[in-house]
Formats: sequence, C-alpha cells, structure tokens
Amino acid sequence: MKSVKDYIISIPDFPSKGIIFRDVTSVLESPEGYALAIDELNKLLDGVDYDLIAGTESRGFIFGAPLAYMNKKGFIPVRKKGKLPRETVEMSYDLEYGSATIEIHKDAIKPGDKVVLVDDLIATGGTIQAAAKLVEELGGEVVKMIFLIELTNLGGRKLLEGYDVASVVQYE
Ligand code: 5GP
Repeated sequence: MKSVKDYIISIPDFPSKGIIFRDVTSVLESPEGYALAIDELNKLLDGVDYDLIAGTESRGFIFGAPLAYMNKKGFIPVRKKGKLPRETVEMSYDLEYGSATIEIHKDAIKPGDKVVLVDDLIATGGTIQAAAKLVEELGGEVVKMIFLIELTNLGGRKLLEGYDVASVVQYE
C-alpha cells in the first residue's frame, strides 16, 4: 500500500540552487495518489466544526476545492492581487526576495464564519498567515490550517503559534 509520500517527487536545486522542491504534480497525475492525498487531508478535518474552506492560489485550490465539495462546504479562493472582480480585502507579506499581496472578496466571509485554510505546502508559514489575517479582518475565525506537506525546519509552526496546524506528510 503506497503512502502520499511515495507520490511526491523531490527536485533538487529548483527554483534556485540549494532548494529541494517538493513537486505535487506527480501526486495529481496519479488517480490513486490524488485520491489518497484528498482522503488523508479530509481525515485532518475529522471532528472539526467549520463553515467554509479557503485555499491559497494556486495549489491550495487543487486540494481545497475537492474537500469543500466532499464536505458540502463553500470554497473561497485566496487569490493573488488583481484577479478578483468584486470588492476585496488584501494583505501583503514578505517573501525571501520582495513581497506578495493576496486578496479575497470582501463578502466571502461573514462575521463568525468558521474557516479552514488549505494549501499544498507550508514552509515559513508566511502565505497562510497572510490568508488567516484576511479571514480575521472580515470577522471570520480560522479553526484549522491543513497542508499536504510540511517543511518542518522552516519555522512555520512557530509563526503560526495559536492556530491549529496539521499536515499529511513532513520533511525536515
Ligand atoms: P510559505 O509561505 O509557507 O513560506 O510557503 C508556502 C507557499 O510556497 C505555498 O503556497 C507553496 O505552494 C509554495 N511552496 C514553497 N516551497 C514549495 C515546494 O517545495 N513545493 C511546493 N509544491 N510548493 C512550495
């Protein structure tokens, strides 16, 4: 019986020298791998009381949307700036070089909504922290953050202290 880790391909020196990129396209390309990944992520939601799932562009969509469908929840795309057509709230966060800005529709979350955040991978935690701030700015509550992959040495858990963080596969 294969595990999710068996479907992930590690690419040395991508996108730059010294980085090992954990590629999930190889998970998605396999019917068994994709189903297993979604099922394992779904297990992380056992017992969680929530209203909505929000996924971060773009791989967070691929894993978040099937979970929303399976659990009959709404799905909120957290997008890069400039893509959403209606009124948005935005949040900028630091990258290794420069910064990025993400947005959600202002009416996507109502005060008191319980939101699960999903992404393919957590590294420093900066992306998901920015997404959480957007949810909170609109009065939502982040009840769980789930990831297919966690890079445990990059300090994500520390940055996200106080949030309920869970992952399917871990790499040092
Ligand atoms: P963080 O904000 O936690 O430092 O970085 C996480 C974000 O970068 C996620 O949106 C994720 O898609 C992307 N990312 C960073 N490194 C990798 C990697 O090795 N593999 C994949 N699939 N995504 C990565």
